[in-house]
Amino acid sequence: MAVLPIQTGTDNPLLRRKTAKAPKVTKAILKLLKDMRETLKKEEGAGLAAPQVGQSLAICLALIDGKVTALINPEILRSGKDADTQEEGCLSLPGLTVAVTRPTDITVRYLDESGREQERCFRDFDARVVQHEMDHLVGRLLTDYVMPPSPASPAAKFVPPLPPPAAS
Ligand SMILES: [Zn+2]
Repeated sequence: MAVLPIQTGTDNPLLRRKTAKAPKVTKAILKLLKDMRETLKKEEGAGLAAPQVGQSLAICLALIDGKVTALINPEILRSGKDADTQEEGCLSLPGLTVAVTRPTDITVRYLDESGREQERCFRDFDARVVQHEMDHLVGRLLTDYVMPPSPASPAAKFVPPLPPPAAS
């Protein structure tokens, strides 16, 4: 087992490309998952996706109900209509937190480590972690959720400046 270096940076091409599905659960993938588990443990994170350790594969780990769970080729089948907003951090963007709004319950289909298809519902924190990790599999990072500043509208020009503070 080995702790792998974490890829960082919003413009890192390894973090920005869409990953390929794992054709099947090979020995190489099991080895990668072992190394990812060790890396996640050392970094004390809630999840880790393969692109974060430089592998462009649709594989991630997520802390589910306190247990590190491997999701291979995950896809979201259903999202509930309730959402909430929470601050999230990312091992690939050290020192940054972003408020992200996400559905609070999702149903996901994926392969487990033995190659068996699973369909599971995740809620609240678990759902948030899974969605964060799945974002990595399509090259999406937390910074993509930051609202861009709205372009200056013509009306903005006519907003009078604040009056100077009254002298006392
Ligand atoms: Zn992340």
